[in-house]
Amino acid sequence: MSLRYSFELFPPRDPAASQRVDAAVDAFVALAPEFVSVTFGAGGSTSRHSLAVLQRLLDGGANPMAHLTCTGLGVAETATLVRQFLDAGVTRFLALRGDPPRDGAPMPRTSLQSASELVQLIQRIESERVPYAEVRLPGLRASSLSARRAATEVAVAAFPNGHPGAGVHRSDIDALLAKQAAGATMAITQLFFDPYDYARFVELARARGVTIPIVPGVTIPTSHRRLVRSAELAGEGLPRVLAERLERAEPEDAVRIGVDAAVALITALAEHDPPGVHLYTFNDHRPAIDVLEGVGALPLSSTATTGAS
Ligand code: FAD
Repeated sequence: MSLRYSFELFPPRDPAASQRVDAAVDAFVALAPEFVSVTFGAGGSTSRHSLAVLQRLLDGGANPMAHLTCTGLGVAETATLVRQFLDAGVTRFLALRGDPPRDGAPMPRTSLQSASELVQLIQRIESERVPYAEVRLPGLRASSLSARRAATEVAVAAFPNGHPGAGVHRSDIDALLAKQAAGATMAITQLFFDPYDYARFVELARARGVTIPIVPGVTIPTSHRRLVRSAELAGEGLPRVLAERLERAEPEDAVRIGVDAAVALITALAEHDPPGVHLYTFNDHRPAIDVLEGVGALPLSSTATTGAS
């Protein structure tokens, strides 16, 4: 299967986790994915660690994508982070609002209030930096023309089964339209377990005027704990049969079951012609590579070239 693919990593917090991320970065760089995204902790708690992983990806020649959230940070702090990432050479962002305070308190007035505001901030900062590039005019030796620099790419989140805060009127689709109008170039979905959830969502979004590519986010549930935790975080119902199989399985069998589940989902998604798939890897590169091999997106020899064991 010919398939565009990308990966998500999260920044490590201790030396053991660092080693896993380093191994994943090396393995993913060797596969030349569309991009590798790096998550961002609420309130900027992981920004230093996120930047270190982004830098490793840049050094390896991969296309990094920086997640960035705005809750818990003032507008000026968010702008400083955007500048830091741009200075480091990052030109792809996943602009997110982040989760509001758990106690139900309103979002602080000093923060940006939504992902679409963050998309606009990123675009504005980028265009204020070096807005023009010199372009040679063909046939005229000394003449050149100022051309608008290529803008950064700003992806946003989409929710096939509705954002938990969107209610029955699916205000999340309006939010996605607002993000597109603000300049978002791509959407990446929250995880889901049924391929028809993605197909239905894309149909609904297109009918409402969303034209940007909508890349399905696919999780690899390699343990019962991981499945339960990610379903909870995403506000998704637990797929009962898969959950029962994972709960009964020995750890090694559970990894195979999780890989097979992701392969089956991507195979079914292929019928709906997605623009790519984004794999939530939990910093485990081996199952992610097994999934891509399972759907025939990689030559079987890739194991040797990635050094994965
Ligand atoms: P928004 O689209 O701005 O808003 C979320 C919802 O609020 C909308 O769908 C809509 O229903 C409602 N809403 C927004 N604006 C309005 C309005 N004006 N009026 C009425 N309703 C409105 N979180 C992290 O902390 N770090 C990460 O790295 C991270 N990565 C993620 C990656 C992906 C692919 C996804 C899907 C989620 C990720 N999240 C992450 C979680 C995300 O921050 C939360 O889901 C957050 O609650 C919503 O963020 P958003 O960017 O979709 O927000």
